Amino acid sequence: MWIVLMHGTVLTFPLLRYYEVVTPSGSLVVSSLKVRAYSLKTGDLEDEIDQPSGRGLFRHFGGEYVKSCRSGALLNPLKMAVDSPLSSQLGPPACERDAKALHFIEETTSHADSVQDRVLTEILIRNSQTEYLTRFKLNGATDRETFKSKLPIITYEDLQPEIHRIANGDRSAILSAHPISEFLTSSGTSAGERKLMPTIKEELDRRRLLYSLLMPVMNLYVPGLERGKGLYFLFVKSETRTPGGLLARPVLTSYYKSDHFKTRPYDPYNVYTSPNEAILCPDSFQSMYAQMLCGLLQRQQVLRVGAVFASGLLRAIRFLQLKWPQLTQDIETGALNPKLTDPSLREYMDKILKPNPELAECVRHECSKDNWEGIIARIWQNTKYLDVIVTGAMAQYIPTLDYYSGGLPLACTMYASSECYFGLNLNPMCKPSQVSYTIMPNMAYFEFLPHEPDSFGFPRDSPPKLVDLVDVEVGKEYELVITTYAGLYRYRVGDILRVTGFHNSAPQFHFVRRKNVLLSIDSDKTDEAELQKAVENASRLLREFNTSVVEYTSYADTRTIPGHYVIYWELLGKDSANSPTDEVLKQCCLAMEESLNSVYRQGRVADNSIGPLEIRVVKNGTFEELMDYAISRGASINQYKVPRCVNFTPIMELLDSRVVSSHFSPASPHWTPERRR
Ligand code: AMP
Repeated sequence: MWIVLMHGTVLTFPLLRYYEVVTPSGSLVVSSLKVRAYSLKTGDLEDEIDQPSGRGLFRHFGGEYVKSCRSGALLNPLKMAVDSPLSSQLGPPACERDAKALHFIEETTSHADSVQDRVLTEILIRNSQTEYLTRFKLNGATDRETFKSKLPIITYEDLQPEIHRIANGDRSAILSAHPISEFLTSSGTSAGERKLMPTIKEELDRRRLLYSLLMPVMNLYVPGLERGKGLYFLFVKSETRTPGGLLARPVLTSYYKSDHFKTRPYDPYNVYTSPNEAILCPDSFQSMYAQMLCGLLQRQQVLRVGAVFASGLLRAIRFLQLKWPQLTQDIETGALNPKLTDPSLREYMDKILKPNPELAECVRHECSKDNWEGIIARIWQNTKYLDVIVTGAMAQYIPTLDYYSGGLPLACTMYASSECYFGLNLNPMCKPSQVSYTIMPNMAYFEFLPHEPDSFGFPRDSPPKLVDLVDVEVGKEYELVITTYAGLYRYRVGDILRVTGFHNSAPQFHFVRRKNVLLSIDSDKTDEAELQKAVENASRLLREFNTSVVEYTSYADTRTIPGHYVIYWELLGKDSANSPTDEVLKQCCLAMEESLNSVYRQGRVADNSIGPLEIRVVKNGTFEELMDYAISRGASINQYKVPRCVNFTPIMELLDSRVVSSHFSPASPHWTPERRR
């Protein structure tokens, strides 16, 4: 590898030293060079090293480890300060690979608008013959104006007929010219079932690309992560086939089962304690057990602990609370719990599990204490941060995570969905309340629907003007609308985002909320209509007691792990001698669960991520008191509506102080991986 260098080039790093590249006898073209390191404080020459080649330019200087930089960056050293990834606003990269990734981020965000142009053109050219684009008479146009004037803004419901046809086996180019490789099952639901998002093979590359940017950014903030491992609790979920034979499964299951993940090359910055055998084990108990055991066995090496969502990490902590006696016994004896029966998992665990009484005692010592505050930092003492999403609905878990981690930093690294991976947090060690995601303009074509909190949709014949990615305004809220390579065109994702600023010309967004979500514990999302229907169904059981539900509200109780839905009911009974018994009210809980959507029921049955639903019956007159309270705080008496979900402490206290009885669902609702329709 030949590099062109100017003799005497000075490369300054925001470190303790600056470096001078010295080429032999001032020649311009070299295959070897010398680098001198000077103290930034004193200007003294501190070190000098010969590099046999331009590749991996900087190695060890004294105790200071300066990672190799991308040799291409040195092609025009005089321009380095402006062009090179080393001078990126983001900071100096940790290694050659990171330099490439940071350079990519800089390039893509600096040219956000032209990248968006290219993405839209690519999508429209390749899919020009699809049934969908032909229907809207795009006639091969690829410019934004024509695209925006001809294609409607749609929701999942609008696409149902096309999705049905694909699911039933129609392989013609309906939405995408590329064959639909599978359906990704979203945690968003339609008519009670997970939405089916068509995807194509190459989307895996786009997902991998976004993942590949996360550690280079993290390495800017947390040095030394290559010296240890990440304890990540990652799981696959069940998959089904559509009538036409396509796989339907969650996006992460699809990713973990892909070669992109399974045969990923070794990367010192991304080594997990969990082996693929554990992550890919379909039995969630065995998977969790093995992942926890591996995490404990390698506890000294663990530098970061994570899961996708905060709720998942807390579930792992709860698992440890329940299973530490067995786990420590396995560690002590070197014999694996016989409940782990998965052959490949056993084979792997048998290889690494050796009797280690000292480690067992150490874990037992911590876990047997009554006080679990800071348990993560106590067991995995070298943990530098927790890697979990705590934005959006997951913000409710921040205090509990702080408790169990002893206040470790929380890093939210990315923002993604089944439809498309959107972007990443370029400042991952910021406070959760300050997290902003930078949308990567290469992932899809993005538009933004100005969000008017009080408006009820828009008329079909005069849709609002959507704003392009680079034109959003700081401080404003928008709903995200995407056009993807897989064949979603001007599709409303349902997320409300607020612009917080820009990185180069790419906007950064605070995740405000998902539209219409009333209750959420894990990946479940229950809206007002679903809750209303559930209450109606359950209250039918009260008819024979001449009792009706006069008012209700709800609350996502995450003080326990797993969290559970609490529904406050005020009842009106006409016959006090025949009021509903505890047994009847328990059946009401179950009836509500039965009518909630399949993601909720899966959380209850398969994932154990949601606890039994609870009805709290409150005294008569409680909801009137609630109204009085709201009015005393300025609500208009004419416009007052009972809130269908509450989480404001004084209101919770008021409600809880009026509870006369509490009832829990006595059994799991029905759920199978098969779709109901
Ligand atoms: P799914 O379709 O099940 O993959 O869920 C995707 C949805 O999860 C997104 O549309 C968001 O509503 C939510 N989500 C994903 N990433 C984040 C994040 N970093 N912060 C908040 N919400 C998120």
